[in-house]
Amino acid sequence: QIKKSHMMVTCKKYVLVKHFKGEPKPSDLEIVEEQLPAIKDNEILVEAEYLSVDPYMRPYVARFPTGITMIGSQVAKIIESKSSKYPVGKRIVGSLGWRTHTIINTEDQKADSLGTPGNYILPEIGDLPASVGLGVLGMPGNTAYFGFLDICQPKAGETLVVSGAAGAVGSLVGQIGKIKGLTVIGIAGSDDKCQWLKNECGFDHTINYKTQNVGVELKKLAPDGVDCYFDNVGGDISTTVMYQMKLFGRVSVCGSISSYNADVNAQPKTTILQPAIVFNQLKIEGFIVTRWADKWQEGIVQNLKWIQEGKLKYRETVTYGFENMFNAFAGMLKGENTGKAIVKV
Ligand code: NDP
Repeated sequence: QIKKSHMMVTCKKYVLVKHFKGEPKPSDLEIVEEQLPAIKDNEILVEAEYLSVDPYMRPYVARFPTGITMIGSQVAKIIESKSSKYPVGKRIVGSLGWRTHTIINTEDQKADSLGTPGNYILPEIGDLPASVGLGVLGMPGNTAYFGFLDICQPKAGETLVVSGAAGAVGSLVGQIGKIKGLTVIGIAGSDDKCQWLKNECGFDHTINYKTQNVGVELKKLAPDGVDCYFDNVGGDISTTVMYQMKLFGRVSVCGSISSYNADVNAQPKTTILQPAIVFNQLKIEGFIVTRWADKWQEGIVQNLKWIQEGKLKYRETVTYGFENMFNAFAGMLKGENTGKAIVKV
């Protein structure tokens, strides 16, 4: 239970006690209580409502020393304020880590270590739940919007393949592909996910990579080859897709979740991909979404408009309880989520 007494709160936070090795283990993190002081001028006290669990946390946290609060973003409500720009009751989206309460100095707003725009007031989201600030109207939504459109430069009539298709980013990329007039093929890890992509998200075709042969199915679904590939997973799936691309195909390399639990220094680093790149004359580009930090609002505004027009569907897999953050994180890495994985405090 969170105790509150005269502007003093006890925060709960997850401390990284051991770096992840292979699959993250519950014992790698520890829940610790921290007494927060009273806030000072220009400070606000926020209380987490929704926390995000994202794939990048798995490899990215290795850059930090043990003892840090586990990294991550959250939607938090301002419960106390000594800053006129940040009134009580407003919500912010911030990279505050896995913690229930945080004091923020509003005069010291800088981009976080990932480069995501610092803490910002949750943008106008109509009557959608605040959790969308972590998904379709936040970092994953902008990843899909900019990472697909800017890098793949899609044209109507082309064929798009998306891996990790039923996740937070992939499900949006495929739908943006449909909005732009492409034929969209999604690769995902269960029949239920594939059904959702076809029936609700409007994907033309899907491949369940756990039960079907991706190369064989893709040959049938895109006999003339693939123009755009949005890669969320890396590994064998991606090598297979790249061999079936058209001349001058474009690949947006967004993520590589198939290797996040692997010790890449102890393994061969690539399957043989280069002939596909050379002979198909592919353009392959990796990106980090913060590249578009100065256009952040553009992505949010466009995705919101598409939602309101009924063109963009989103789903969230919500885990309840701050004490279940680890399970939500580990479950997401194993594919238990459809759409955005979120924790509601
Ligand atoms: P998702 O919601 O897609 O969740 C992760 C999904 O990955 C799981 O649900 C699972 O679905 C799939 N998965 C897990 N292991 C494997 C595997 N071995 N092979 C294939 N699929 C696997 O996460 P996000 O949408 O948030 O992120 C998707 C990707 O985009 C990640 O790689 C992430 O790191 C990257 N990303 C990159 C950003 C950037 O700036 N470059 C920004 C945001 C995300 P399934 O059941 O289908 O296996």
